[in-house]
Amino acid sequence: MTRRVSHWIDGKPWAGVATRSGEVFDPATGRVRAHVDLAGPAEVDEAVAAAARAFPAWRDTALSARTRILFAFRQLLDARKDELAALVTAEHGKVAADAAGEVRRALENVEYACGAGQLLKGGFSENASTGVDVYSIAQPLGVVGVISPFNFPAMVPLWFVPNAIACGNTVVLKPSEKDPSAAILVAELFAAAGLPDGVLNVLHGDRDAVDGLLAHRDVKAISFVGSTPVARYVYETGTRHGKRVQALGGAKNHMVVLPDADLDQAADAAVSAGFGSAGERCMAVSVVVAVDPVGDELVARIADRIAGLRVGDGRSPDSEMGPLVTAAHRERVESYVVAGVAAGARLVVDGRDVTVDGAAGGFWLGPTLFDRVEPDMSIYTDEIFGPVLSVVRRPSLDAALELVNANPYGNGTAVFTGDGGAARRFQHEVEVGMVGVNVPIPVPVAYYSFGGWKDSLFGDSHAYGPEGFHFFTRTKVVTARWPAERAARPGSARPDLA
Ligand code: NAD
Repeated sequence: MTRRVSHWIDGKPWAGVATRSGEVFDPATGRVRAHVDLAGPAEVDEAVAAAARAFPAWRDTALSARTRILFAFRQLLDARKDELAALVTAEHGKVAADAAGEVRRALENVEYACGAGQLLKGGFSENASTGVDVYSIAQPLGVVGVISPFNFPAMVPLWFVPNAIACGNTVVLKPSEKDPSAAILVAELFAAAGLPDGVLNVLHGDRDAVDGLLAHRDVKAISFVGSTPVARYVYETGTRHGKRVQALGGAKNHMVVLPDADLDQAADAAVSAGFGSAGERCMAVSVVVAVDPVGDELVARIADRIAGLRVGDGRSPDSEMGPLVTAAHRERVESYVVAGVAAGARLVVDGRDVTVDGAAGGFWLGPTLFDRVEPDMSIYTDEIFGPVLSVVRRPSLDAALELVNANPYGNGTAVFTGDGGAARRFQHEVEVGMVGVNVPIPVPVAYYSFGGWKDSLFGDSHAYGPEGFHFFTRTKVVTARWPAERAARPGSARPDLA
């Protein structure tokens, strides 16, 4: 008997019997560690109904009471962060240090949401016309759906949930069915922090659950993070059903290395950003653009560092890179290595030969490095989402910018250089939402917002930070005129004041 991971509805574990379930693996051993219930229409209705029932009281709960719960949740999350990180490693496979980093970034978002009192202040214009005041109020939307991917099972839900509930919404969270347990621990900690029943519900499932949320008339908004084809589908379907949707998609992130860059710093960055979390990050660097003449030297330094990278079970403190999330995903990533060789790219390091410090059944694939990759090869055009790094060579900064801007994705990018003028031009001209200057993974801190351009985001609001608060509220503007104070009007003096 394996463990069962079930929904969390109305403040408690779901007591029903699921008609469908999925397998949850331990990627470092390849064994099934749990079965997860997969929701059908009845469970979607149940979760949305719980959230809808909880909404009127939650939206009327004093802002100070809402933020007190967020502060309490923040304390509990901090106290239990190791447990949450261990769950992430057990089901996703990323090494302990990566999992701890994920939880740290999640905590930052909770801390931001604790400032709701400040963030929800509206504007006020006295005497916009004589005796007329105009002011704005930010109100919650109602029930919102949050649909998250497998690669950050703790952090991505916590990009949205704290901000959504801080604004007075209630939530149905549909985490990835590949690593569902972290979301349940989050819901338990919220309950322990005093969040009323029904304000946060966790619904496990796959496409059926997503479709149910997209079509449900009581769901007012959807925050989605996942691959580009699904993000596009979620955006189109959700908006067709009249919902507010932000749908963050996939990526192909380029790191441009100019000839005057510190090559050791650039090589370190390429390895940590290319292979950290086994390349399963939407902000992973998957393309290094080496601007002539640094190509040979840079490739040699990256290859040297890869040779020292320890691949193994994420629970071991010695491991620096873990397995891929499932056997099917591992096969898909490996098929790109085959395709890259067939297309004529130079395979500098072959991850299929890796020696692993872990169980034979794990979903292992070592860091792989290709050089002399061309833009028409599938290893360049497709998001591989694994430990495969491609080096493309370009003759100049102009040619590098042209390459980055021609790519349909626009999530993250970085430039490595010692020249401030070149960096400034790059940040100005590059058509990408998040830019690093000598920083390979420029994930914005919680008080900025996270989001890519082009096929990396559908909708007009980025995630978390100020744009997150904007997404989870709608503004009402009141224009008010009051008659003059009664006591001042002739013949209308109040007897109690006389
Ligand atoms: P995915 O698109 O397969 O799944 C994301 C979510 O959608 C999951 O909850 C899943 O159950 C659901 N889903 C899957 N297929 C669906 C379908 N056909 N219809 C409706 N719902 C469906 O993504 P994933 O493999 O879990 O995550 C990896 C992807 O997410 C990568 O492309 C990565 O770049 C992207 N990602 C993007 C960001 C970002 O901020 N832009 C952040 C993290 C991950």
